[in-house]
Amino acid sequence: MPMRDLSAGPRVLLKRLRELMAEPLEPQERLDRIVRQIASNMVAEVCSVYVLRSDGVLELYATEGLNKDAVHLAQLKMGQGLVGTIAASAQPLNLSDAQAHPAFRYLPETGEEIYHSFLGVPILRAGRTLGVLVVQNKAQRNYREDEVEAMETTAMVIAEMIATGELKKITQPGLELDLTRAVTIEADGYSEGIGLGHVVLHEPRVVVTNLLNEDADKEIERLVSAIGSLRLSIDDMLSRREVAQEGEHREVLETYRMFAHDQGWVRRMEEAIRNGLTAEAAVEKVQSDTKARMMRLTDPYLRERMHDFDDLANRLLRQLTGYSGRSMDDGFPNDAIIFARAMGAAELLDYPRANLRGLVLEDGAVTSHVVIVARAMGIPVIGQASGVVALAENGDPAIIDGDDGQVHVRPMPDLVKAYEEKVRLRARRQEQFRALRDVESRTKDGHRVTILMNAGLMVDLPQLSESGAEGIGLFRTELQFMIASNMPKMEEQEAFYRNVLRQAAGRPVTFRTLDIGGDKVVSYFRSQEEENPALGWRAIRLSLDKPGLLRTQLRALLRASAGAELKMMLPMVTEVSEIRAVRDLMQKEVQHLSKFGHALPRKLQFGAMLEVPALLWQLDELMDEVDFVSVGSNDLFQFSMAVDRGNARVSDRFDNLGKPFLRILRDIVRAADRNKTPVTLCGEMAGKPLSAMALFGIGFRSVSMSPTAIGPVKAMLLGLEVEKLSAELNRVLDDHKSTETPRELLVNFAAAHNIPV
Ligand code: PEP
Ligand code: MG
Repeated sequence: MPMRDLSAGPRVLLKRLRELMAEPLEPQERLDRIVRQIASNMVAEVCSVYVLRSDGVLELYATEGLNKDAVHLAQLKMGQGLVGTIAASAQPLNLSDAQAHPAFRYLPETGEEIYHSFLGVPILRAGRTLGVLVVQNKAQRNYREDEVEAMETTAMVIAEMIATGELKKITQPGLELDLTRAVTIEADGYSEGIGLGHVVLHEPRVVVTNLLNEDADKEIERLVSAIGSLRLSIDDMLSRREVAQEGEHREVLETYRMFAHDQGWVRRMEEAIRNGLTAEAAVEKVQSDTKARMMRLTDPYLRERMHDFDDLANRLLRQLTGYSGRSMDDGFPNDAIIFARAMGAAELLDYPRANLRGLVLEDGAVTSHVVIVARAMGIPVIGQASGVVALAENGDPAIIDGDDGQVHVRPMPDLVKAYEEKVRLRARRQEQFRALRDVESRTKDGHRVTILMNAGLMVDLPQLSESGAEGIGLFRTELQFMIASNMPKMEEQEAFYRNVLRQAAGRPVTFRTLDIGGDKVVSYFRSQEEENPALGWRAIRLSLDKPGLLRTQLRALLRASAGAELKMMLPMVTEVSEIRAVRDLMQKEVQHLSKFGHALPRKLQFGAMLEVPALLWQLDELMDEVDFVSVGSNDLFQFSMAVDRGNARVSDRFDNLGKPFLRILRDIVRAADRNKTPVTLCGEMAGKPLSAMALFGIGFRSVSMSPTAIGPVKAMLLGLEVEKLSAELNRVLDDHKSTETPRELLVNFAAAHNIPV
């Protein structure tokens, strides 16, 4: 049967669909009329809509031409039959002889055996498949490209109907549509804790509600002008001073520019407009098609480019709709769980702290800035949650479990209940820990221990009183640099340190000089690509090569501590000579300040971090040189065992409570005792009750940890007879024939003595 010329077809069809959408109809009736309309407009004998259910089944929801009794009965699994293949691949299928296709599956209840030609398109939203729209004809024919396009455009209208939840009413009891399906994503836990709340998309999708146009030429004009401004804004960003050179940021913008000038992209959007969509709906349609196709890519580089393309399309959408992003007063939930592909630390700080319940990242690593900041703020974080942003809508209920590295979107009621119970238990435990806040840190057999906390931002400071820490054992000064968009000036640094000291109200604060480089990237500080950044130009090495930078920081520290005690230490020291070099610079700064009549600190305590194994063979020289030593067990473990701390595949491969590492740590304590040099340990080990117990067992009497860890460690310590543990632990460490591991001993010891670990 010959097909009618369809050049005006899609526009007429969309007009009719718009009228149908506006009529007060029951959902089944509306859907029935929609398929009838499509069939008639496309001169097809059959038009059917299949909707994807949460159990992965595509159910026939409406049909014109097939047996009506099959509606809500005919089903195909994802990947099964032609319809399942379209859904799984998110690609149209255009066949002149459907039954000859290897995936064809005959559903007797539908009576479709008499139809030969078949055109099916996925119903997409934000790149996700929600269903399949099909037309069929008896005669063998290939559908033209403009017909495929028209079907895709029509499918968008149906996607909107599914997304608004209208079809819920006609969904069989006990079943759910895929869009509302509960999903659990297994990812990596970066910061402990549980959060129940509602999704806030960090970069919310613009919801296009105005789908169908009145005047195609006018819409094309709007599109062209929006693309023009988009191109200009990219050129503008590229010419800014901070991105004018090479670097990652520039690379992204170059990619944007490439996409923005891609004629294929523009052409496809114009075509969609000619088919009846508004400019914004056309952007969304092409974005969704492209995303669906690219989502299946496994190449990380290309996937990254997909993110870039997606960003660009979002920018264009914002341009067209005048949507300026999330508004805080516009219903920002008081229990927000932020979902982001990636995020900078400063962006997280822009959210109202009191309303945050968690952070879910598609990218990220334990050591990324935003994670460090989120941890400091005490909110649960999970990372590497791939694809999570496309699965969630703003306002969806969600649960984040930072302990197990899971996020549950639209969780089922029984799961919510289980988590509410978990949260109550945690709160009760927190309450018990809080009760220990003012209890002196002393072991059961009377040994005094100092418990300090780690910090790096102003948001950490209130924790000093809340946690009961005796002071700050590690203040990571690089965080101020990492969250700033420009290098903080001396005055800013001084004001910041002064503020920290004021809030510490006399409790000791150990400032660590800049530990940038390696994985701690400062965007405005350009350095060359390094093959092994952890072993590269970082921390004290960088500071000594850039004496201006270091001297500025030393000056700020000296000025901020005028009249008080300044405790400072150097990161990543490898040779004692590096400490002497910094001391010389410090001396110069002291002279400079006194020459100009500035008040100086009352006392200066100069320390070094022990993170590089080479220092283990310079322990006596080191301790002779400094006033105190602080063990950075994160790096010391990474370098001793040759395992990258940020690489989940190897970072847990060896036990930090195994013999080699505990012996290393014990040697350090022995050297400190011998030299009467105070020693602290400030890596993550200190914050876990079992490993803290091991540290006390080998002789540490001062530890510094994240504030949330203080309660559990203190509870352990109060029940610990440390002399008894020392004797047993040393026995195992000294006995090279013993098969008992230190970890086994520690676990058994805790169990036998009822120590909470
Ligand atoms: C460490 O390495 O243990 C440490 C405390 O420093 P950072 O984690 O900042 O590298
Ligand atoms: Mg370190």
